[in-house]
Amino acid sequence: MKDINEIRKDFPILEKKIYNKPLVYLDNAATTQKPISVVQKIEDGYYNANANIHRGVHFLSQEATEAHEQARQKVADFLNANSSKEIIFTRGTTESINLVVSSYGEAFLKKGDEVIVSQMEHHANIVPWQMLRDKIGIVIKVIPLNSNQELDIEEYKKLITDKTKFVSISHVSNVLGTINPVKEIISIAHLNNIPVLVDGAQSVPHIKIDIKELDADFFVFSGHKIYGPTGIGVLYGKEKLLDNMPPYQGGGEMIANVSFEKTTYNELPYKFEAGTPDYIGSTALSTALEYIEKIGIDNIAHYEHELLSYATSELLKISGVKIFGNAKEKSSVLSFLIDGIHHYDMGLLLDKQGIAVRTGHHCAQPLMTYLGVEGTVRASFSFYNTKDEIDIFIKGVKRVVQMFQ
Ligand code: PMP
Repeated sequence: MKDINEIRKDFPILEKKIYNKPLVYLDNAATTQKPISVVQKIEDGYYNANANIHRGVHFLSQEATEAHEQARQKVADFLNANSSKEIIFTRGTTESINLVVSSYGEAFLKKGDEVIVSQMEHHANIVPWQMLRDKIGIVIKVIPLNSNQELDIEEYKKLITDKTKFVSISHVSNVLGTINPVKEIISIAHLNNIPVLVDGAQSVPHIKIDIKELDADFFVFSGHKIYGPTGIGVLYGKEKLLDNMPPYQGGGEMIANVSFEKTTYNELPYKFEAGTPDYIGSTALSTALEYIEKIGIDNIAHYEHELLSYATSELLKISGVKIFGNAKEKSSVLSFLIDGIHHYDMGLLLDKQGIAVRTGHHCAQPLMTYLGVEGTVRASFSFYNTKDEIDIFIKGVKRVVQMFQ
């Protein structure tokens, strides 16, 4: 991997002082910091390349349109999709899932049909399905976890019935770090002709995605978790499926022709992009993907795994610590609690030392209920973090433990 000090220079915020102490940013699963190239792309977009896209005959509009479409192609290449028509820009993972649940769900599911999710889902992959349940009466079934907090694949197989019409599953848990065997989950579903959505919010920043190899029907992620801007995300869908789905929102760009009697819809991908899209965000996301590719996703995975192993072994030396998420395949998320210390207190007292971690239920309350806790403390690592920062974090945790003794 490129020299870590050089990498850190790309992220000026890492130089920030918090309460006069160096910032140790370990909240990367919530959102990542942005490299200079991404911020410059946004600035350059607004200063030099801003015009509403698609509808303009003038130079700037055509240039902006081309940049947006090139960004779409970049995302398609990044995922190894067949075509840029399969890439829909959304506001993020949450909107992408809502789009599929509303459009596909309302068109192709009916009362009594079963949708399989898992015990470790983020609320974004639970609540939209519950809203559909309330509207049309689908049944939600839940894959349980084993004692290492991995999905129980045998139980998953047993959940599939003639009525199962959709599987919607996270690739990596934002709480446990568990990397789910999505390829296997998809192939089992496909044996039964069931489409699968993969929530890639926590996997794309850490794992190389080859959508052709995975054979996911839908794959969704957020720009801000992969060093890109907020407000932009992606829905990948197989062309055949997207083609047959009705539009999600109505308005500009998603139409072919409008009259008061009848409106016809635009072709893919525009059918799903009503209104002015975030064309500055899409181009900056493309820059973020280029940045990641330059460092190399395999290098990132390897380095982050070293950080995770080191942090895990150091944390386990502290008495009373309990780590949640002991999967064999795990990404760089470390959730824990320490006996007698509320997660919120730990978060606050680490913050006072300049250390940013996340505390609470992490938008995964059903998982918290299963784990029998109200919340956890979560440290999540990026390739710009260092072993020295882990040492500061561990020292910080020890200091908090001493305060409570
Ligand atoms: N799914 C998972 C697994 C996540 O970690 C998150 C973000 N915490 C989301 C979905 C929602 O992402 P966003 O808020 O960017 O839409």
